[in-house]
Amino acid sequence: MTTHLPTNPIQDSSVNPAHDIVDVQTTDCCIVGGGPAGAVLALLLARQGIPVMLLEAHKDFDRDFRGDTIHPSVMQIMEELGLSDRLLQLPHAKMRQINVKTPEDTFTLADFSHLKTDYPYITMLPQVKFLEFITQEAQKYPNFQLVMGANVQELIEEDGVIKGVRYRGGGGWHEIRAILTIGADGRHSRLRQMGGFESIETSPPMDILWFRLPRHPEETGGGMGRFAPGHIVAMLDRGDEWQIAYVIPKGGYQQLRASGLEELKKSVVEIVPELSDRVHNLQDWSQIAFLSVESSRVKRWYHSGLLLIGDAAHIMSPVGGVGINYAIQDAVVAANVLSKPLQNKHVELSDLAKVQRQRELPTRIIQAFQTFIQKRVFAPVLTSNRTFQPPAWLRWPILRDLPARLIALGVFPVHVKT
Ligand SMILES: Cc1cc2nc3c(=O)[nH]c(=O)nc-3n(C[C@H](O)[C@H](O)[C@H](O)COP(=O)(O)OP(=O)(O)OC[C@H]3O[C@@H](n4cnc5c(N)ncnc54)[C@H](O)[C@@H]3O)c2cc1C
Repeated sequence: MTTHLPTNPIQDSSVNPAHDIVDVQTTDCCIVGGGPAGAVLALLLARQGIPVMLLEAHKDFDRDFRGDTIHPSVMQIMEELGLSDRLLQLPHAKMRQINVKTPEDTFTLADFSHLKTDYPYITMLPQVKFLEFITQEAQKYPNFQLVMGANVQELIEEDGVIKGVRYRGGGGWHEIRAILTIGADGRHSRLRQMGGFESIETSPPMDILWFRLPRHPEETGGGMGRFAPGHIVAMLDRGDEWQIAYVIPKGGYQQLRASGLEELKKSVVEIVPELSDRVHNLQDWSQIAFLSVESSRVKRWYHSGLLLIGDAAHIMSPVGGVGINYAIQDAVVAANVLSKPLQNKHVELSDLAKVQRQRELPTRIIQAFQTFIQKRVFAPVLTSNRTFQPPAWLRWPILRDLPARLIALGVFPVHVKT
């Protein structure tokens, strides 16, 4: 069921007196954030017959400049849910390799076709289509409720336990009371902030500008990277468009803007000459989105009654494009661990700790790998005029498949418990 307006107003004496609460609803699990982590967790819990409410601040799932990648490990999860065939019927592209071109050479950074999986490629599918597909699937369960345009702004805390949230949506303030609240509200997580979670942060050496340019049908699909002295560009296939990431040294945005749009266009054409016939489409800075690259994770992912997953628990650097993969794997582990306690209507702190225990090590390993690549590959290219040389270890057979494996499958495989 999708709700846009409140139903069944109930008067509750425990509500925050500062607000006029339009209605109070109860559920077993209240998930805040309808991104990959929240949507997949909602589907998994709904399948188990658990009453679940998914609150999404936006009125639709359309997002500008998000990841559009579905990794082999996620396709495997979709297969376990009986959804992979239908998902692959949606228009998509398949990325079998990540190739990197330098002025002198082309080499393969990750070749997914070697991997032992039924899906040896990255499925390039607009995130909006994936989220619509997952939530439509969840709508088949009467115990699932989706509320769009629900901007969660307060946690309800009683005796040190989180008992739900208050959100602003259609008609004013609403209250949801739940046995368990999940913060899946992304990199700027309000629940992380309101819950006072402490983060461990690292400082990636770069920021990214995102923009789109037309893609000609005859151009090789999937994705590619270009390295030139001082510059890195990644291009991701979105059907009739390239989504382009122009990587700049951390803090270099103001200087770039001061140099003017023409300088940016010139630089893009220097790195990717074949874009010279369409770079004129960039006419205004409003077509360019700035992403301040961050990498962090919270020390403890939970409080009594509240668990963070996905980007809310760990902001991923874009290196390797693994954020969606890790967010969905968190969702699967959370559902595996918490379904039983939720069915029993009693979630212990130790259940929430178990989710963190299973997901923290893979997160730390991939973040360490991203930091290594940022320091050894990205920083030298961005800050010197030297031509990029692929690291020698990429040619060693034993290590050659490591980037592909880490990107495609993650550190430990995660499976849906039935
Ligand atoms: C420009 C860009 C490109 C990226 N490219 C890739 C890529 O190619 N591959 C990849 O794997 N990853 C990529 N990522 C990272 C990836 O998008 C994230 O890691 C992933 O989406 C995390 O999923 P999530 O569900 O945890 O959070 P999100 O996808 O951020 O979802 C959070 C949801 O919560 C909602 N929300 C936020 N606050 C509230 C609130 N107060 N109340 C209610 N709802 C709220 C938001 O509207 C959003 O829908 C990219 C990220 C960016 C910014």
